[in-house]
Amino acid sequence: MKTNPDTQIDKHQTPQNETHIEPPSPNTSSRVASVLSKIYKWSELQRFGKPLADSHIIPHKTPIDNKYLLQHNQWAPFSALTFVDEQLKKGIVVGCIIDLTNHDMIYDVRSVMVPRDPERHFAECTVNCTCPKMPLKHVRIQCVSKEFPDNTIIKNFCETVDDFVQQFPNHYVGVHCSYGFNRTGFIVCSYLVESCHMHISDALKAFAQSRVPGIKHQNFVDELIKRYGHEGPNVQEDQHDISQKCKLSIDNNNTHP
Ligand SMILES: [Zn+2]
Repeated sequence: MKTNPDTQIDKHQTPQNETHIEPPSPNTSSRVASVLSKIYKWSELQRFGKPLADSHIIPHKTPIDNKYLLQHNQWAPFSALTFVDEQLKKGIVVGCIIDLTNHDMIYDVRSVMVPRDPERHFAECTVNCTCPKMPLKHVRIQCVSKEFPDNTIIKNFCETVDDFVQQFPNHYVGVHCSYGFNRTGFIVCSYLVESCHMHISDALKAFAQSRVPGIKHQNFVDELIKRYGHEGPNVQEDQHDISQKCKLSIDNNNTHP
């Protein structure tokens, strides 16, 4: 696979402030993460997409703590802290990560703090951040790989995102499965239809623009169309008409480029 500039940057960065990371939380399933045995595939994939349409969702691949990367002789750092820091550089404050994986946690969020007031942070903290912080929220909504998430899972996801964005309208929500394409694409496209009332073809297009090239499993796309509509995705179309329906935030002050 072609190496993208995103991962090239990763490989030359030295991790900072990550020596405090502790073992993964024990209160999850006992499944071993298959992504760890496919770590090269993981490391070659782009780390995260752009905010999805006008929502406050950012799709990404799973963060992995550095100790696992070292164990697997791979070095393309992307911990939860890296994800949050990279978004901050773009003017985006991630306040919540929704984890769709179905195995033991392979990253830690317990020490990750984020600015509580993004507007104040970007106005005042150009060098050293002194504003009030809050812990990064982490929510697990476990989805089995290669299976279609059922309606209970979709409903749980939509309520989780809507509740968080209502409470923190200037913060963003990271969403990931292992690689951030199929389960993630399925569930966020469902969200765009159910919570943002977007047409499924627009939702699929928006996801493909955010996390290029979009959902990879054709059966996932087929199932979404079966559930929500009859039109297929057409990412070749003029993309100016990405739905403006998903106005989740009152924040339109160009806090991200
Ligand atoms: Zn600050």
